[in-house]
Amino acid sequence: MSAHTPKVGFVSLGCPKALVDSERILTQLRSDGYEVVPSYDQADLVVVNTCGFIDAAKAESLEAIGEALNENGKVIVTGCMGAQADEITNIHPQVLAVTGPQQYEQVVGAVHQYLPKPERKHEPFIDLVPPQGIKLTPRHYAYLKISEGCNHRCTFCIIPSLRGDLVSRPVGDVMDEAERLVSAGVQELLVVSQDTSAYGVDTKYRTGFWQGRPLKTRMKELCDAMGDLGAWVRLHYVYPYPHVDDVIPLMAEGKILPYLDIPFQHAHPDVLRAMKRPAASEKTLDRINAWRDICPDITLRSTFIVGFPGETDAQFEYLLDFLDEAQLDRVGCFTYSPVEGATANAIHPAVPEEVKEERLARFMEKQVAISARKLQQKIGRELEVLIDEVGLDGSIGRTQADAPEIDGQIYLLDDVNVKPGDRVRVRVTDADEHDLWGERIKP
Ligand code: SF4
Repeated sequence: MSAHTPKVGFVSLGCPKALVDSERILTQLRSDGYEVVPSYDQADLVVVNTCGFIDAAKAESLEAIGEALNENGKVIVTGCMGAQADEITNIHPQVLAVTGPQQYEQVVGAVHQYLPKPERKHEPFIDLVPPQGIKLTPRHYAYLKISEGCNHRCTFCIIPSLRGDLVSRPVGDVMDEAERLVSAGVQELLVVSQDTSAYGVDTKYRTGFWQGRPLKTRMKELCDAMGDLGAWVRLHYVYPYPHVDDVIPLMAEGKILPYLDIPFQHAHPDVLRAMKRPAASEKTLDRINAWRDICPDITLRSTFIVGFPGETDAQFEYLLDFLDEAQLDRVGCFTYSPVEGATANAIHPAVPEEVKEERLARFMEKQVAISARKLQQKIGRELEVLIDEVGLDGSIGRTQADAPEIDGQIYLLDDVNVKPGDRVRVRVTDADEHDLWGERIKP
């Protein structure tokens, strides 16, 4: 690339959905002829993709903007926090432009304005951008976003006010992207959205086309088609609606991974109602048991909030009993954090901080024991493992039960004859409360 190529630095904060936005912006910038550089001093301008989900994320975003301003000086802000531009410009009036989440054209337009794109004499897309686009994840797995926004109005969440109502991507576009990624070497597709189970609701499950075949814009049909591509397909952010039952047989058949990431957030019906959670009235335990009857190997991951405003001792105890009964594999738990603008903040009484912390500790103590027991049961089993890293004295991978970054890993000590992206058979030899150890079964 020539010395005159305009150079952009990029800071990507937040969740996998924001990461997908970053990848899309970077793909566009590269196809416009910009070079993406890894340090502030090499960059002519820096884009910061922010997260505004909770106050701690906002503080981190503001800090990142401040750092980019100090180190570089020319900064454009985008992403969730961009929906509340005042909060940024009040603290950092020097930023050149602020655009909101999914405003790809606007952020790229702002870059064009402050750092004009280079004159081009040839087809830029072919020269500069791999067909699968720019990926910020390692080459062997990729997040695939199937929709934007959300039709729910959970009372602790401000995402719909930041990202708007649900807009599903056309099923043919999603499948084209999935196919490009797999052709480029991706071994694992991580399907993300705000509510994956709602895919297609906004289009009334319109029939789209992929490779000349009709295909409905609906979770089951999408999973069925993606399952034919040969990569692992992992579903995130699914709610326990009755129609989720339809994808469990695909898991039992091995078409998609037997893994569901379902953010239950609570178990007590009154708290779920106060949270206005999707599928709050569903009989969750019955549903989980029915899924396990069809697909005994299914891994269930979830997240919960303790100390939601108004949560009583009895409701918290009910949640602990639910954990005992549900026997979930992987669980994250947070204390309630009053995000500015969330309607739940008006629910009384707020739970005192020390009670929240105590509930969190009791919750985690119970769940850690459950997760550890479930991992112990894997010792001796033979599992498929996707290799993530290879070092000098061994390699690290993940089983089908483990999503990158949020779940556990499996360590293959002394085994370096593999590459990231390899899928290998492993016998599990040991486990702790989070990770596994194993030995590769040589073919
Ligand atoms: S489902 Fe609820 S928590 Fe998730 S994005 Fe929608 S409103 Fe927020």
